[in-house]
Amino acid sequence: MSSALILVDLQNDFLPGGALAVPHGNEVISIANQLQPFFHLVVATQDWHPSDHGSFASQHPGHRIGDIIKLGELPQVLWPDHCVQGSMGSELSPLLHTNSITQVFPKGTERQLDSYSGFFDNGGEHETGLGRYLISRKITDVYVLGLATDYCVRATALDSYRLGFRTWLIEDACRGVELQSGDCSAAIAEMKQAGVQCVTSDRWLAEQRDSVNFRERKKRSGGKFINIMQTGRWEYAERSNAKAVVVIVALTEEDEIVFIEQYREPIGKRCVELPAGLVGDGEEDEGEDLSEAVRRELREETGYAADRVTFLAASSSSAGLTNEVAHVYLAEGLRRVETGGGVDGELIQTHLVRRDQVDDWLAQRRDEGLDIAMSLYAALWLAQSLLAQR
Ligand SMILES: [Zn+2]
Repeated sequence: MSSALILVDLQNDFLPGGALAVPHGNEVISIANQLQPFFHLVVATQDWHPSDHGSFASQHPGHRIGDIIKLGELPQVLWPDHCVQGSMGSELSPLLHTNSITQVFPKGTERQLDSYSGFFDNGGEHETGLGRYLISRKITDVYVLGLATDYCVRATALDSYRLGFRTWLIEDACRGVELQSGDCSAAIAEMKQAGVQCVTSDRWLAEQRDSVNFRERKKRSGGKFINIMQTGRWEYAERSNAKAVVVIVALTEEDEIVFIEQYREPIGKRCVELPAGLVGDGEEDEGEDLSEAVRRELREETGYAADRVTFLAASSSSAGLTNEVAHVYLAEGLRRVETGGGVDGELIQTHLVRRDQVDDWLAQRRDEGLDIAMSLYAALWLAQSLLAQR
């Protein structure tokens, strides 16, 4: 399921003070702003008329606003001049949040043809491109709100349903012109009859808060080092004491790679890994601190000091399980300065393996029943790619 929100004609001329003000039209703007973050896609329609548009009463001497005439072959209600291309009145409300709107679809651009629907002109012949756009984005569910219930919202929702989208009207986020009393309720009844479903913004928001679409991160429980986090239905681990992990491909002057081996409690066996360690919170310059962390961890675990460290990549270590990001570095110019072996009884064993014998050595360790960390293969591949370019 992929859902789109269509904001219909939230333009100055349709708001109080505008040329064709819809009563209380401004009340829907804040609802539109509240809803936008919950959709995969947000688009807007924009009434966009030439200054001599055929729907304007001013173009038909002897007729008044509200009269119904024939424009081309179609009955046409006559309106005051409104939403003239490029005018202040045609602009989207300055109170509307527009950051998530990926595209605005103009309509009513042909002089002799009006267009209430965001999809087609009133004759149903010319497309605005909105339908194709939604299909290309794999949208299945369309939500419609805006102005005016009895004209452009109605026509847009009906066309959306006809085009095969599951279509919802956000009922409290629409306001109508109501030329005749009862026009709005008749329009809503017609939409429902056709297959459009109605929902209120409150109810819909409450449903989203229970669903995976709701992006609030909550802490479900916490240990000393790891918190269990939840976003929607998704649970994952987050380190409470570190913001990143560094993984180090350490290369000696004799072209050997430094591996370490240690017992790992979660998997219940010894594991071959690359030197690695956590980077603490709160530092200012992330880049510099990471390379410092590389030198410190390498020294603690293996006893080697490095002359040069080179950043290789930063990637999620297990994107479904944790938000942890591993920063992979190549360390070169190694000098042995300490015995290594880790801190606090980590009992880390160090292995030096010639680079051209690494594959055989790893296969042998795997056959012996040791676990080989997945991150090791990835980091080695990154390092070999860089070294091959030299
Ligand atoms: Zn118009």
